[in-house]
Amino acid sequence: MIRVGLVDDQSLFRPGIRMLVQSQADLVFVGEAGNGVEAIAMVEEARPEVVLMDIRMPVMDGIAATIAIIAGAESRATIPPRIIVLTTFDLDEAATRAIRGGASGFVLKDADPKFLLAAIRTVHAGNAVIAPSATRDLFAHFDERTSVEVPPAYGYLTAREQEIFRLAARGLSNAEIASGEFLSEATVKTHISRILGKLGLRDRVQLVVFAFEHRLTYS
Ligand SMILES: [Mg+2]
Repeated sequence: MIRVGLVDDQSLFRPGIRMLVQSQADLVFVGEAGNGVEAIAMVEEARPEVVLMDIRMPVMDGIAATIAIIAGAESRATIPPRIIVLTTFDLDEAATRAIRGGASGFVLKDADPKFLLAAIRTVHAGNAVIAPSATRDLFAHFDERTSVEVPPAYGYLTAREQEIFRLAARGLSNAEIASGEFLSEATVKTHISRILGKLGLRDRVQLVVFAFEHRLTYS
């Protein structure tokens, strides 16, 4: 059973998510909170393994709460919960800040319930998750801005690695990249590990943020 907690200041939003989680045989809803301060207390008391975290909330927002929850767990040498940021189309910057703060991914609040449930299971398994439509939106916003310099580390990627980087940055899974590039999934996984290592990134979500910040997907 995966222990799930929810943090959102919209009290009308919470029961739907609670019911959705409780309807799943492998998930258990363990606690909820209406702001960041309550979230910290909820995490300590209810010990969720996955937390769904809103961004805009009174008292303390979801970014500060994410950072505090992860720092708190590290200071006690306990395993922090995985945090999925709940975002809306206009909160892309905040979502990337939450990722830098330690969140494992983000999904849109109006995502298909199946996607949200898959995201919970995915981050619990140790993988990062990104809402594909949110990824597209990030890049749509970014394309309006002026260009930025390509970071030197990107130049250390081989041509093949750069190609795989761009596909991963668009939110494609290893399986999708493998079938499109006529490679085995294991080979794609190896390429992704090398890419993350060369760029000093922790996971795929950081890869997406890196691509977003340096405008590297559609180049
Ligand atoms: Mg809110």
